[in-house]
Amino acid sequence: MKFKCPECDGEIETKEVIEGEILTCADCGAELEVVKNAKGNFDLKVAESEGEDWGE
Ligand SMILES: [Zn+2]
Repeated sequence: MKFKCPECDGEIETKEVIEGEILTCADCGAELEVVKNAKGNFDLKVAESEGEDWGE
């Protein structure tokens, strides 16, 4: 299954697609969450890394 990165339009290929899974774009390094859109198709959205402590 192939997706397009919403950040850089790069191609992301994955064997298994699981809703809620986080994929990392090999081109730009963006973390992308597998979601289902209104049509019931899988889509990718940029995962927010909220609550992450980056430290000082
Ligand atoms: Zn990308």
